[in-house]
Amino acid sequence: YISIKNLSKRHGNLEVLRNINLEVTPGELTVLIGPSGCGKSTLLRCLNGLETLDSGTIVINGVVLEKNKNSSHSQSDFDKKARAIRENVGMVFQNFNLFPHLTLLENITKAPIVVKKMTQKEAKEKAKDLLAKVGLSTHADHYPCQLSGGQQQRAAIARALAMSPKAILYDEPTSALDPGLVHEVLQVMRTLDNEGMTQIVVTHEMRFARDVADHIVHMQDGKIVEIGTPEQIFTSPSDDRTRHFLRNFN
Ligand code: ATP
Ligand code: MG
Repeated sequence: YISIKNLSKRHGNLEVLRNINLEVTPGELTVLIGPSGCGKSTLLRCLNGLETLDSGTIVINGVVLEKNKNSSHSQSDFDKKARAIRENVGMVFQNFNLFPHLTLLENITKAPIVVKKMTQKEAKEKAKDLLAKVGLSTHADHYPCQLSGGQQQRAAIARALAMSPKAILYDEPTSALDPGLVHEVLQVMRTLDNEGMTQIVVTHEMRFARDVADHIVHMQDGKIVEIGTPEQIFTSPSDDRTRHFLRNFN
């Protein structure tokens, strides 16, 4: 369960997030849309404890994140909570972010061994299952540079799954891919959705959003303009800005 209440975030004088309120039910796939610079990445980063908050509360997987009071004690408290979140919430970035000097198998087993104290053997078995799941069984010993972008991104998802996350956040996971490779990555997210994974996805893939999302969140200028089902958002948006934004995607 993910709940965001009255979240605001500034970078210097710029209000990047303004009073964001959002609830995500377990098992749902939520798509975040909105123009460049509206705060989508910042919102995901806040959810994953990668940014401090200026006001408001985030509850994610039982951990409560709040504004840091100005003391070193609260800083380490925030860091502890942020780490707890990142152990249970996976994040997948636009540019794959695999460790370049490690094979796929090593990429996937590293965090479970280091953070979850899994044995090598256990972690390897799990990694092999996950590579099979994302269609990369024959690539376990390859390095990221030997793979296509689509394969790297599927490996990045397998790496996130290796920590048995309660939710996965994706920041434009297909934006850096050649058009022909987008589908295979979206397909992995569809499969995870069918299996009940909680996912929040920043994407411009509107067809995917329409077909798979439970809710679509439209942001502009650091604010949520509208939240609705794909049906509502695509056929009868309640806000003109949503209609206008979606006109660019057809
Ligand atoms: P895009 O679609 O281009 O990825 P976005 O919706 O993800 O955009 P963010 O990256 O969240 O937008 O940025 C929101 C705003 O905050 C932008 O105006 C950006 O310039 C600003 N911003 C983001 N990170 C920082 C930072 N570390 N320091 C200063 N300003 C920042
Ligand atoms: Mg972004």
